[in-house]
Formats: sequence, structure tokens, C-alpha cells
Amino acid sequence: MRYAILSDIHSNLTALEAVLVDIDSLGGVGEIWCLGDIVGYGPDPHECIELVRKKSPVCIAGNHDWAAEGKVDTAEFNPDAGAAAIWTRSQLTPDEKRYLENLPLVLEKDIFTLARGSPRHPVWEYILSADTAAANFDCFQTACCLVGHSHVPAFFEQINPYSLDVNATPAAVPHELHAGSPVVVGGRRLIINPGSVGQPRDNDPRSSYMIYDDEAGVCLLKRVPYNISPVQQRMLKAGLPTGLIERLAYGY
Ligand code: ZN
Repeated sequence: MRYAILSDIHSNLTALEAVLVDIDSLGGVGEIWCLGDIVGYGPDPHECIELVRKKSPVCIAGNHDWAAEGKVDTAEFNPDAGAAAIWTRSQLTPDEKRYLENLPLVLEKDIFTLARGSPRHPVWEYILSADTAAANFDCFQTACCLVGHSHVPAFFEQINPYSLDVNATPAAVPHELHAGSPVVVGGRRLIINPGSVGQPRDNDPRSSYMIYDDEAGVCLLKRVPYNISPVQQRMLKAGLPTGLIERLAYGY
């Protein structure tokens, strides 16, 4: 079966719809898994929550999801993110807030643990370096772990995971993750980040998501262009911060 893995949608309906069309163009998938941050930053929180609820019952919470219903203090965000979180909170219905509040932080599916930022500190930790990745491999039981939060596609491989040497130092090797280059997941321990649907930050403005094929044993990153300008117009109309509007065009 094939699975689509989406993360960091961030209230960007146009990007989410483009990704769903891309998934359909592949002939569909058995399940869609969502790694959190459905809302925050963007202009379409209702529509994104509705679509994720319908399409992706397998979903974990992000810091922006919890900030939007008050479970995380917006004072912990930078000013733009905080302003967007306060705006998002003002838009949501009680039912939508309840939905976000009840999302789990960690789930296990197939050979993966879905763990938002990191399995060690799901809400806030970013896995951007080999050292941070190495320290996280002991924090999940499955072979592999899927994380979001950084908005940067990448994967980390554990070195000598089954070493009997008690003095062996935990280590990990970082790898870039590019569209069209399949990553074999069988027989090794990996932490994989599929990038962001709604606010990519790797200098590529196209939406990023991943397909996992359990029969082939591979993950494949996908990049999908979408019409950014209408999203920016809706953000402008909502009064969202200029920096958040501009960054979508550059993917940073
Ligand atoms: Zn995010």
C-alpha cells in the first residue's frame, strides 16, 4: 500500500489542494498521514482543518495547532508567528479548537513513529543536525521516525544501531532529501522529514510532501508548484504579517 505523508500545512488551502490533486494523479493512496501544524501563518484555517479531518484521520498535533486553541502560549513564538497564532485563534470555532486540542503528539504507524518535532521533545525540538538526530534515535521503538517542524526536507541515518560495543558513541549521518530520489527504508534506522506543504523553507517555494510505498520499501519526496499569489492576497486581506506573506514566494 502507498501512504502520503504531509506536514506543516499552515492554513495554506491552495497548497494543500495542489498536493491532494498530485496524490490523486498518482492513483491515490491508502492513507494520508499528517505530521501537524495544520494551522498558523496562513489565511485558511477552517478549510484546512476540514480537509485534514476528512482526508487524514491519522494526524498529530503541532505547536501552532495547540497555540491556536490556547494549549501553547503564543509568547513562545517569534512576533510574526505569535500574531498569526492570535489571528488564527480568533477565527476558529469551538469544535475546531476541540479537534486541535485532542490531536495526539506521537503515533505509531507501520514501521514509523510519527513525532512532530522530535520523538524526544515532540512540541518544540527541531532535528536539523546529526548530533540532535543521534540523540533522538533512542527515543522511539519503531525502525524509522517521521518528523516535521523544520519545514526542510531531510533524512538522518543511525550509524551502527545494533553495535554490541557499550562504548560505541551514538551517531547519525545527515542526508539531503530531493524530489525524485527514492530513499530505501528497509533494514536501517532513519529519521525522515518530508518538508512543508504550506510554507517550505529550503529555498524552493513548491509544496513538499512524501509518498511511502510499503511494498517497494521506499519513501519518495514530491514537490508540487501551486498558485502562491492568491494565498498572499488572502493573507493581506486578513491582516497577517508582511514577512509571512513575502516568504511564501521564496520558500524560506
Ligand atoms: Zn510548522
